[in-house]
Amino acid sequence: MRRYLIAGNWKMNTNLASATALAKGVAAAAPKKLAKVDVMVAPPAPYLLAVRDVVKGTGVDLGGQNASEQAPGAFTGEVALDMLLDTGCSSVILGHSERRTLYGETDAIVNKKVHAALAKGLQVVLCVGELLEERKAEKTNQVLDTQMSGSLAGVTSEQLAHVVVAYEPVWAIGTGLTASPEQAQAAHAHLRNWLTARYNASSAAATRILYGGSVKPDNARELLSQPDVDGALVGGAALKPELFVPIIEAAVAVAG
Ligand code: PEP
Repeated sequence: MRRYLIAGNWKMNTNLASATALAKGVAAAAPKKLAKVDVMVAPPAPYLLAVRDVVKGTGVDLGGQNASEQAPGAFTGEVALDMLLDTGCSSVILGHSERRTLYGETDAIVNKKVHAALAKGLQVVLCVGELLEERKAEKTNQVLDTQMSGSLAGVTSEQLAHVVVAYEPVWAIGTGLTASPEQAQAAHAHLRNWLTARYNASSAAATRILYGGSVKPDNARELLSQPDVDGALVGGAALKPELFVPIIEAAVAVAG
């Protein structure tokens, strides 16, 4: 049985005061929900410690938004996986479309980061998803297959137990456009079939596949009701407790 995961990606938003306040809002609402649903927040790296201090003991997990695959050293501006661990993270988001499109992260780079993160014992939230022109050209499945095989090259079925896949159609991220529940389910089912073919049926059945792309309180329940949607990676709506908490509540309601 897969537990829902509702993950908030704060991106390069908030300041120290607003990050702390947001964390307090999520932490205050979360404990009652956590019996059935996992909750994670991924603040900007400079605020990880402050947010850690707020969510400590509440069951809300902390994640990094990205990390270097390199060991600590002379890599100006980068954040090491050891630093994420040190500041209380149990997960790291890798291969987000903004990293791929704005910072040139290829599947090969993402794959190095995936291996480095798994070696450190972090849970990986691996993002994949197609561009609008790729969807229009009916290449969605092909794009997902390429991203999955490139990003997960050499990852064993034992390691896959520490990987969460996030299907994020790029055209739906931050645009207000959302994949329909049917479009999301079709992509998620395709990803699960890919996992079955590449690994095995039980690993595929155990792997959580999150949907991301303009998830809001008013569309969360229908998306989360799809059989292969195991949670949400939330951007914009993760920045306000009054939007993020109802998404957690939708997952609790669907979990039953
Ligand atoms: C994201 O950045 O992962 C995301 C899904 O953003 P939004 O919810 O704002 O579309």
